[in-house]
Amino acid sequence: MSTAHDTSARRDPSITAGHDGTAPRTPYLILDLAAVRARYRLLSSLVPGARIHYAVKANPAPQVIATLVRAGSCFDVASRPEIELCLSAGARAEDISYGSTVKKCSDIAFAHENGVRRFAFDSLAELHKIAEYAPGADVFGRLRSDGQGSVFPLDGKFGSPAGLVADLLVEARRLGLNPVGVSFHVGSQQLDPYAWGPSIASTAEIFDKVAAAGIRLGVINLGGGLPGTYGPEVPPLAEYGRAIDECLERAFGANRPEVMIEPGRSMVADAGTLHSEVVLVSRRDGSAGARWVYLDVGRFGGLAETEGELIHYPMRTAHDGEPSAPVVLAGPTCDSADVLYRHHPYLLPESLRAGDRVQLLCTGAYTVSYSSVGFNGFGPLTCRCVDSPDAAGA
Ligand SMILES: *Cc1c(COP(=O)(O)O)cnc(C)c1O
Repeated sequence: MSTAHDTSARRDPSITAGHDGTAPRTPYLILDLAAVRARYRLLSSLVPGARIHYAVKANPAPQVIATLVRAGSCFDVASRPEIELCLSAGARAEDISYGSTVKKCSDIAFAHENGVRRFAFDSLAELHKIAEYAPGADVFGRLRSDGQGSVFPLDGKFGSPAGLVADLLVEARRLGLNPVGVSFHVGSQQLDPYAWGPSIASTAEIFDKVAAAGIRLGVINLGGGLPGTYGPEVPPLAEYGRAIDECLERAFGANRPEVMIEPGRSMVADAGTLHSEVVLVSRRDGSAGARWVYLDVGRFGGLAETEGELIHYPMRTAHDGEPSAPVVLAGPTCDSADVLYRHHPYLLPESLRAGDRVQLLCTGAYTVSYSSVGFNGFGPLTCRCVDSPDAAGA
């Protein structure tokens, strides 16, 4: 999918650069902090009253975390280094939620000693670990969600059925912990705004069930799943806000609990542009064969999410608007898995040649943090954050 009628790229010096040797060496990601701030504000108003916990793994650049600290965000983490990152960027420990259900004992202890209060679990064994290494902590039971409607379901690895979550929350109290609520994740890049509905309804049932055991839960954690805007198939974020609000209303009415939401992808995806260079354009299997375009970034340099070709990054070149034709897009390494798009029909200008710049848009999430340390001498992908003053009054 090339932007055939968008010729603005030709006036962008960062994309016409590349042949004279003076331009910065690609590949690198440019992340626009003003866009992250704007997205934080949009997400904050999406579900009334919901507290944003940015899922750090989507893009852990320290400037992103610091920007979100200043904006008022809380954070969702999965390891000691992510906690240290948030604390050193100025986050308060009580604004950090340890949402992973698979935590090292030493990391639980570290979090607890440093003032992190909230921990998630989806098994009795993890509950016992939390009780031992973070005695008295607030805990969430993670509910299984089938991930239907999402590009990357998380259901196979995380979450327990509602009945078990309720039983474990009761057990948590017996172990001296403070059961506070239920969390779930409806799958990443969720394209159905109503996908949160069934899990919200199950959460309300869990609240009722444990209330019978004398436990009042007060928090629902809606997890991640909000989309990046990779293409026209993505519904507007406002539709998600309306759908989620409607589902909360139906399940809880006037007794709506505290709401947490953990956007990772949606917070940063659209704010990133990955600058790359064409290494080779060739016809495989002779002149009639497919045209292959090899970039200097690939599956191992940050584009891991091209696996299965489920995410289609929009692309820009300096030749946009000129006649274009199908390509197979590949990375530069000597590994046959390093093909980005073989089946998805990408069209790129016929005039594209080695040394030209190609920009991959919407690459702010799950790119830098997925990049290898240097497979075949390529990488790791660097992230440079740029900032500009917010628009007046914004
Ligand atoms: C990864 C993750 C998120 C963020 O998911 P996105 O789909 O990127 O928004 C949120 N919560 C938890 C517990 C996660 O593991």
